[in-house]
Amino acid sequence: MFESNARALTVEFQGGEPLLAFERVRQIIEWIVERNVVEQRDIQFVITTTLHHLTEEVIVFAKKHHIQFSTSLDGPASLHNANRPTPSRDSYERTLDGIRRVREHLGHEAVSALTTLTAKSLEQPRAIIDEYVAQGFSSISLRPLSPYGFASKGAQRLDYSMERYLAFYKEALAYLLEINQQGVYLSESYASLLLKNILTPFSSGYVDLRSPAGAGTAALVYNYDGYVYPSDEARMLLEMGEDGLRLGSVHQPLAELLRSPVMEALLASGVAETLPGCVDCALVPYCGADPVEHFARQGDPIGHRAFSSFCKKNLGLLQHLFELLRDGDDDIQSVLLSWLNRRAYSEVLFPGYRG
Ligand code: SF4
Repeated sequence: MFESNARALTVEFQGGEPLLAFERVRQIIEWIVERNVVEQRDIQFVITTTLHHLTEEVIVFAKKHHIQFSTSLDGPASLHNANRPTPSRDSYERTLDGIRRVREHLGHEAVSALTTLTAKSLEQPRAIIDEYVAQGFSSISLRPLSPYGFASKGAQRLDYSMERYLAFYKEALAYLLEINQQGVYLSESYASLLLKNILTPFSSGYVDLRSPAGAGTAALVYNYDGYVYPSDEARMLLEMGEDGLRLGSVHQPLAELLRSPVMEALLASGVAETLPGCVDCALVPYCGADPVEHFARQGDPIGHRAFSSFCKKNLGLLQHLFELLRDGDDDIQSVLLSWLNRRAYSEVLFPGYRG
């Protein structure tokens, strides 16, 4: 990690459940902190966790090292517990208890949440959003299921068409715009990233929306067995018996990993402006290439845009956002701008207003 010349580095622990191996997490963080006395990088730690195994020891350590927590909240109890069954059937209650304790000890912003949308979720956009409002979150992520890991195995039960997802998203976005106008600040994170790509000269930096692709160039994943992958999605392909996207092992220097044949293939297929379909698309300045997703879904990192759900998703969402920016009234535009600036709608309308 320190072989990278990046000034700012984010170290994220993902599972499984990292808190079940907290001693290893602690050891890694302590080594990094010790080495960083000399390196002087700007380092952020994130633990992705259900928060079910949050002990006092973890909280004290997290406070000391300013660790952020990223958890999963799929909506109200019935939906969350159906998506995440545990023997005691209290997955929702335990996650909520963890969120409360993190906020109490580390501050409100120390925990964020991601939503996994199953087919069942798509029937209740308002209930999911109401849950995020009730729990005091300022951002919700309404991302579709990825084609990896468990989502692929249970495809019949969990998966849905991109058309169905887009209909859900538009309904959810309309409701979000409505409640933001009523004074609640809750942004949708993917819309915020796309708006940043559309309305500012800066890239959102989001790995899946980069061109050249961000997998491997902006993120590396070290698996528990010591093998290195260009993204978490590439690692998750392992669960489907596919290890073709392995860059090498932890014992190899970074320069060697980045020169691996897999990395060459990803970079050769990772510039959206050169890909068949994207090259003629008006939306390419705001979109990305995502060769890993195309490899997972189509068995080829270049992929065919006419059959690509990544393309369908971004085309649908970008067109919808452009329509809202063109046809939406001033109130809708103010809410979208407030998501871009991470400021409440009332502040965009009345700068300085704190009501
Ligand atoms: S919307 Fe589709 S065709 Fe257009 S740039 Fe994105 S992936 Fe390529």
